[in-house]
Amino acid sequence: MARKTLLPHESDIGFYETGTLVAVLTAQPLDRPLDYKAPEGGCFLGAFVEVPLGPRKVLGVVWGPGLGGFDIAKARSIIRVLDTPPMREEMRIFLEKCGAYTLTPLSLMLRLATRAPGLCDAPSMRKVYRRGDGTPSRMTDARQRVIEAAEEMGGLALTLKELADSAGVTTQVVKGLLPSGAILEEESPRDTPFPRLHPDYGSKPLTEDQEAAAAQLRAAQVSHEYRTTLLKGVTGSGKTEVYLEAVAEALRQGRQALVLLPEIALSAEFLARVEARFGARPAEWHSGVTMTERRRTWRMVAEGHAQLVVGARSALFLPYQNLGLIVVDEEHDTSYKQDEGVMYNARDMAVLRASILGAQVVLASATPCLETWANADAGKYDRLVLTSRFGEAVLPEMKALDMRPEKLPSNRWISARMETAVRQRMEAGEQALLFLNRRGYAPVTLCRACGQQIGCPHCDARMVEHRFLRRLVCHQCGESTPIPDRCPSCDAEDRLAPVGPGVERLAEEATTLFPDARIAVLSSDLYGTARELKEQIVQIAEGGADIIIGTQLVAKGHNFPLLTLVGVIDADLGLQGSDLRAAERTFQLMRQVAGRAGRADKPGVAMLQTYQPEHPVIRAILGGDEEAFWKAEAEERRAAGMPPYGRLAGIILSGGEAQQVFDLGTHLARNDAPLRRVGAVVYGPAPAPIARVRGRHRVRLLVKAEKGVALQAALREWVAGVTLRGDLRLAIDIDPQSFF
Ligand code: ADP
Ligand code: ZN
Repeated sequence: MARKTLLPHESDIGFYETGTLVAVLTAQPLDRPLDYKAPEGGCFLGAFVEVPLGPRKVLGVVWGPGLGGFDIAKARSIIRVLDTPPMREEMRIFLEKCGAYTLTPLSLMLRLATRAPGLCDAPSMRKVYRRGDGTPSRMTDARQRVIEAAEEMGGLALTLKELADSAGVTTQVVKGLLPSGAILEEESPRDTPFPRLHPDYGSKPLTEDQEAAAAQLRAAQVSHEYRTTLLKGVTGSGKTEVYLEAVAEALRQGRQALVLLPEIALSAEFLARVEARFGARPAEWHSGVTMTERRRTWRMVAEGHAQLVVGARSALFLPYQNLGLIVVDEEHDTSYKQDEGVMYNARDMAVLRASILGAQVVLASATPCLETWANADAGKYDRLVLTSRFGEAVLPEMKALDMRPEKLPSNRWISARMETAVRQRMEAGEQALLFLNRRGYAPVTLCRACGQQIGCPHCDARMVEHRFLRRLVCHQCGESTPIPDRCPSCDAEDRLAPVGPGVERLAEEATTLFPDARIAVLSSDLYGTARELKEQIVQIAEGGADIIIGTQLVAKGHNFPLLTLVGVIDADLGLQGSDLRAAERTFQLMRQVAGRAGRADKPGVAMLQTYQPEHPVIRAILGGDEEAFWKAEAEERRAAGMPPYGRLAGIILSGGEAQQVFDLGTHLARNDAPLRRVGAVVYGPAPAPIARVRGRHRVRLLVKAEKGVALQAALREWVAGVTLRGDLRLAIDIDPQSFF
């Protein structure tokens, strides 16, 4: 019996001979794997296969022995084994555990792990062309150009189109050269390996505390044991520099590494940095990557020909052969939590995957989330702290501007003291940043005739005026309409008034106050493409603006060496509201924004306009006493039994009929015996924070339990007790990030 020797890692135990019944998991919405017969030549456990499903052929993975229980003669056969290394046991366990934790069906987990096009199109070859020895019997100008173009490439091959384009001829001309052998046509694999990275290519001398941290990470990497380390340090302290040393060690060990980043649109700077450090670009995995490149990355990761992947959260589900390190940069970032489809937190799942694998996790942040802080505090995670900024840069001085005594005219938000401070920077040839975490012109449009605020027709959200786009936009569902002349409620003409500031309105105020200043507004919606935004950022960094006005976009990882003043227009924004994490988020955001100032040799100042200078969060920000903030916040959560000291799950019900959705919620809340058995309590139903999205009504229940109870099992039993009729939907969000 001939065996496929696709994978040296799998042992012979996981091999099924021809005709054996095996269970195949597909990405189709079925609740379990289906039985098939192993194909001619047999198949390995974990093999990627194509199987018949009704009239279709679908992708699947051999998940284990067949479950049987029916006439084996009726079982259909696997069509073929794909030309891809089998899914490793570690990955199958990861998908099972991740699915069990997030209460996601395995089929959906498999879908997450096979999000690349054309995985079934094997083998993936394409035709390529290069110079051969022959001479055409008839030579023309066009033919001559093709031969020259091919010769210029040396031995390298081009696609038909590439060769024709570089010679400036039609593809017919190239084809005409084939019979004579002047140009050769060959088959070549479509997906090429990524260039090798060199661990010692661009290493830098590290500072003493950087080196100490790097040494510890390297040692952990060498140990090949599971370990999670919190790498904490202010922005600019060299965290990236340090974790790239861990990546280097993984490369030396012949293991793959993954760096997860939150704001993937802004990663060009990062990729350039990786290239400078390792001599070549890593593989990329995020929504901006083309389909062709996605398939290449998926395959090369599976074959071990991509040593480093830099990507967004879903890069965690790639089929690594030998993953040794996962870095989660800006680990506190909320974008790591996916809150649609499979609701997982990539940070937590990175820890899960690494613990199965015996790999290392590095969680890097200037302002870790409380969960991570608590795990480090309890000794579950190691903690490495970089205390000073690299080079001359020092942390900015922080000051509160008490707004209560200010007599600001209406529709003005920049206080006199802030104005003076900005002026001083301009005179010194330095930059000032005015930060307001609100996109658009004004958050509310009010009709002065009838008093109505313009709302989104589909959602329970207000329409936000975007003067730059000349539209009202719903930040929830994206609905937009031209700014109307008449009130949609009472039809009064010219009585609509903007209320409150957004960055665009702040820019208008700044233009009036500082008519000579060059003002740049950084807000995601003002740029057509990520590239435009990046270019703008580079220009600003090089001194192309005096005043930068920005949303939270500026809080993340850019260097503005000339920036010496950060003015926070509304430090209280985010403190209100009943969100569990409001204080934590405000604290993180303010610290990050303040971290933008004084990166180079000039010390910076951060000024926070606030109406609540005595608020504990504002005081903690100003005092720079982080440990005090975390301890106080942790104490409050512990007392309330809230995460990370207790567990939460959100249940989101939605449907077209508000009453039906509420009735379902009430039914669930009343029939909570499975929850009560584990001591869990259910709150609600209540309208979700945004009670209507895209025309669907949303109701929320919140389940709270003690740490350590088998919450998922209880939840599963609880929701199994209801049948979802019509368009009703139920989603469970384990460890929700925001609620009520
Ligand atoms: P963080 O990730 O903590 O924000 P970075 O690693 O980005 O910090 O470092 C901030 C800046 O200082 C970067 O431009 C980086 O290249 C530079 N830097 C940090 N450490 C060193 C070092 N040891 N040698 C040279 N440059 C360094
Ligand atoms: Zn809307």
